[in-house]
Amino acid sequence: MPTKNYVLALDIGTTSAKAVLFQKSGIVVAEHENAYPVHHPHPAWVEQDPHEIEQAAIEAISTAVLKSGIDHHDISCVGISSAMHSLICMNEQHEAISPSITWADGRSVDQANHLKEFAGKDIYLKTGTPIHPMSPLPKLIWMKETGYQPYLQAAKFVSIKEYLLVKWFGTYKVDYAVASASGLFNIHTFDWESSALLAAGITRDQLSEPVPSTTVCQGLSSQLAAQLSLPQDIPFVIGSSDGPLANLGIGAINPGDVAITIGTSGAIRQMSAKPETDELQEIFCYGVTKDLWIMGGPTNNGGIVFQWMKDVLGEAEVERSLASGSGSAYDLLTNLATDVQPGADGLLFLPFLNGERAPYWDADARGSFIGLTLAHRKQHMIRAGLEGVIFSMYSIGEALERLAGKPSNLFASGGFARSSLWLQIVADIFGREVHVPVSHQSSAWGAAWFGLYALGDVPSLAAIKEDIPMKESYIPNSVNHELYLQLYKTYSELYFSLKPHFRSLSALQRGVGR
Ligand code: ADP
Repeated sequence: MPTKNYVLALDIGTTSAKAVLFQKSGIVVAEHENAYPVHHPHPAWVEQDPHEIEQAAIEAISTAVLKSGIDHHDISCVGISSAMHSLICMNEQHEAISPSITWADGRSVDQANHLKEFAGKDIYLKTGTPIHPMSPLPKLIWMKETGYQPYLQAAKFVSIKEYLLVKWFGTYKVDYAVASASGLFNIHTFDWESSALLAAGITRDQLSEPVPSTTVCQGLSSQLAAQLSLPQDIPFVIGSSDGPLANLGIGAINPGDVAITIGTSGAIRQMSAKPETDELQEIFCYGVTKDLWIMGGPTNNGGIVFQWMKDVLGEAEVERSLASGSGSAYDLLTNLATDVQPGADGLLFLPFLNGERAPYWDADARGSFIGLTLAHRKQHMIRAGLEGVIFSMYSIGEALERLAGKPSNLFASGGFARSSLWLQIVADIFGREVHVPVSHQSSAWGAAWFGLYALGDVPSLAAIKEDIPMKESYIPNSVNHELYLQLYKTYSELYFSLKPHFRSLSALQRGVGR
């Protein structure tokens, strides 16, 4: 059978489903993104409708295929990537009886704090998932303790990717990385961890079968195949979660290769040939394949910080961008910040607008500008904001370095990589060269590559390094690096000095004691 020329990836993100059609060399032929809403039925609750996500995914795939104009029989397979930590309760009839509760949901903060104080460390050392409301484990404990009806009635608990596999192929399977991020999976034995299941009050038959990323699902109904604009027998390769797939898709797979992804949130990650957990519980370690793990730390304050600055400070730029069509408001604001010296003339920004995960795991952390004077203008605040996000990434990088050693190569992906100023700040703060691929759809390319690997079209995962079209590299400026190291010292001391005050301000905001 002649080999096919194209491969498709489905990337189910936090806010949208993306379908990307690639040539086998990694060149993007067509892509389509379909957004879905996030619902907040109560403060701190963050939910999505699994059915809406399924429809968005179907439409994204179909639109990308039709846009490309290629013969769909020339697509070898579909590789799947998904965001981590989502949780859906399913009944016996394989229907969702709860919304999809996302990583950003904070309802289980008390359960996470309590678990952390008692059995948490032991569970973390087995699962590699820091004990935090982001993951399904504390969410399940919350469901158990509050008598959440869908939990009491559930036959199965699944993530959003498993939900799609159930709907499309009628099978309960989960790849190791998505399973790992649940906080219920043992990264040493690659099986569900009984102490975590006990804490969650569930049994292993309520979970899917953990399977390798190369597992193939096949046999679409004729109706679904028509909706997807795909052949009925096209193989879907189960793939992995978006974190390890971004590392793969960017070529950050060898020791010392570190990927920095900043989209709405952000993360810094490195692959490892063995499972490594952290006595300080600052770093996650998830299983990817039986001989590959991924370590790193997530931040809540990635591109969302720039988005906030745009909304609060960038009204004029938003209007100008809409009126003239000359670049996005982000580009206009970045241009302003480019005129300000590194260090923003003595203005520092702690970016914890959204609490913080790694390395502090402190939901009460708050954002702050420090060092404001009459001389500072909007452009200084923007520059300090962009620098503050990267100081935060650097602090996670330091925690990762304790376990994984010094980084040698940095690779950047995500929406922030559209800004050359922001990328130069990464090179200068880390003091390392930063490599940037042409397509910022790195997770999608990683998923597509897993697909090709599963079908035997490519020899190894590592061979992807030859097939990542790279755009440019940013070289660190040593003078700026020295300055940033001094500023970073102040930045990290400030977090610890302000921590107790953040806690009382957070209590005030929540109305505690009023
Ligand atoms: P998601 O994680 O939701 O998939 P993206 O990877 O698209 O999001 O990243 C979105 C973020 O990228 C925005 O919040 C913004 O901070 C940043 N961003 C988008 N465009 C630009 C730009 N031109 N310059 C700098 N940053 C940008």
